Amino acid sequence: SARPLAGRVAVVTGASSGIGEATAEHLAGLGARVAVLARRAERLDDLVARIGKSGGEALAVAVDVTDGAAVRAAAGRVAAEFGATDLLFNNAGVMLPGPIEELATDDWQRQIDLNITGLMHVIGAFTPQLIEAAGERGVADLVNTSSIAAQNIFPHFAVYSATKAYVTHLSRHLRVELGPKHVRVSALEPGIVGTELQNHVTDEGALAWLESAKETMELLTPEDVARTVGFIASLPARANLQQVTIMPTAQP
Ligand code: NDP
Repeated sequence: SARPLAGRVAVVTGASSGIGEATAEHLAGLGARVAVLARRAERLDDLVARIGKSGGEALAVAVDVTDGAAVRAAAGRVAAEFGATDLLFNNAGVMLPGPIEELATDDWQRQIDLNITGLMHVIGAFTPQLIEAAGERGVADLVNTSSIAAQNIFPHFAVYSATKAYVTHLSRHLRVELGPKHVRVSALEPGIVGTELQNHVTDEGALAWLESAKETMELLTPEDVARTVGFIASLPARANLQQVTIMPTAQP
């Protein structure tokens, strides 16, 4: 059908820009009610208004996902407004490459705090809802945003890449653990997507590499990734895309 996700309750983290924002809009267009989570409340309010104008339904929940108690409160709010979440797009992340010998330990910690600890806070707060919803409706989805960096070596990306390898490996385990409860788990591994992610990069080497990538290839758009998430969640309940790598056609 044109609305394969009608009746479903989606949560998108990192929804105030880039991949998360595009995915929230796309899932709403496929019929899901969507709770959008990030820190920048104004951006979330604009997104909710836009989804509403297109005939969808969304809820803004401003939250810092590195704060476990705040994430649990957000999960309670989503359940109260929409019922149990059955599609969780666990997507907030930050990328701060740099040569390891510079010892930018604050940057290491920021990536670990968001890409690993924040991701776990979200899993902890919403897994009970996913299991409950899957029991009632026959299927639920946990889609974690990893990266091609989980597989390949990019110079100066050691800490970021390792956080994403964590996400991919964790997802494989959780798939086996939650599958019998009808919760599908996927690791989504995009190549370079044109978003705000690159705006936080200060390392000259990484910036030069990203600049040359932009000049020599057409990057993925956030919408390309959004459609992939929609596809994952629209498959029949028996089918689980475990790991999906989506690359710009010209990215090696
Ligand atoms: P953006 O920077 O556009 O989006 C990151 C999102 O995370 C924003 O909505 C931001 O919102 C949110 N966020 C950051 N910190 C927090 C926090 N503490 N609490 C809650 N939300 C937070 O980048 P992308 O869309 O590219 O990134 C999305 C995911 O995709 C990330 O996990 C990234 O690692 C991954 N990825 C991106 C690729 C790319 O090339 N762009 C390639 C492969 C993977 P706010 O600041 O309002 O909180």
